[in-house]
Amino acid sequence: MTRVFNFSAGPAALPETVLRRAADEMLDWHGSGMSVMEMSHRGKEFIAIHAEAESLLRELLAVPANYKLLFMQGGAIGENAFLPMNMMRGRAGADYIDTGEWSKKSIKEAKKYGKVNVAASAADSGYTTIPPRESWKLDPDAAYVHICSNETIGGVEYHFTPEVGNVPLVADMSSDILSRPVDVSKYGLIYGGAQKNIGPAGLTIVIVRDDLLGQAHPLTPDAFNYKLQADNDSMLNTPPTYAIYIAGLVFNWIKAQGGLSAMAAHNRAKAALLYDYLDATAFYRSPVARDCRSLMNVPFKLKDEALDEAFLKGAQAAGMVQLKGHRSVGGMRASIYNAMPIEGVRALVAYMQDFERRHG
Ligand SMILES: *Cc1c(COP(=O)(O)O)cnc(C)c1O
Repeated sequence: MTRVFNFSAGPAALPETVLRRAADEMLDWHGSGMSVMEMSHRGKEFIAIHAEAESLLRELLAVPANYKLLFMQGGAIGENAFLPMNMMRGRAGADYIDTGEWSKKSIKEAKKYGKVNVAASAADSGYTTIPPRESWKLDPDAAYVHICSNETIGGVEYHFTPEVGNVPLVADMSSDILSRPVDVSKYGLIYGGAQKNIGPAGLTIVIVRDDLLGQAHPLTPDAFNYKLQADNDSMLNTPPTYAIYIAGLVFNWIKAQGGLSAMAAHNRAKAALLYDYLDATAFYRSPVARDCRSLMNVPFKLKDEALDEAFLKGAQAAGMVQLKGHRSVGGMRASIYNAMPIEGVRALVAYMQDFERRHG
């Protein structure tokens, strides 16, 4: 068996130890005689798996007691609708910060449910920056302020938590959740799909301050009503049981690595290897402003895009896959989430240097 270095933006690489453990437990979880996939979500075995996953995630993120943690479905694109349905709370609209493809999608969807005030946009920079907080034109009556903490496609990431006064701050953290410590108390709500940094696609995490619950629009489907899900321990409907189990194994793995500060150090070291090289050569370049560069998704361009195909082919042959950039921005993108070992990034940089020597 050969495992590749998988630079996919999502669904993305998982820690090998997690996959091995899942394989070991596939047919018989802890003497139950069943796979986790076959268990009733109301049985004591799965209830224990669910409770452990929740308590580990709470511990890793130091989630305060007045926040509910929900395991939902529908992904972040689903949340683009469930969020305004649950959180407009009778107000006219919400503020959104436009930093790229994912925030644009959030904005488009939210417009169906209320007035959207785009309080700041990075469109002028070609989405290579985060608009400085001083430039935001916030509405004090907004239901919430929405940001995308890491733009997975453009590769820009917030390296600060914006102060937005009494209006709840909401973040789509799909692609940087658990990559570093976060002060949850600064947010009204955090959401994210699991398939970047947590586990299999199909599970969606919502962390919400409890005083914001209970004012959903009457047409909100029960399965996506935060209050109803909170009241039912995220089991109003059948939850994505196997995805929750794998997420629990990943949370355990992160804890064993030393938690989120250890993850942050590991991620900084990996990203520095790549960005330092990109800054030192003229053969490749990073399009993103230095202080906004993502530690998770590193887009880069070859000086001569006619070489893109040869670059990708050579990388594939060397066991490095999924480096093609998103079709909307072109070039390359290396996604280096928690589970990407530093050896993978070293191998990529060595390959890039070699490719430059041969084609530069
Ligand atoms: C991947 C991603 C999404 C979309 O997630 P789905 O699971 O396809 O709904 C939304 N926002 C961000 C920041 C993402 O990285």
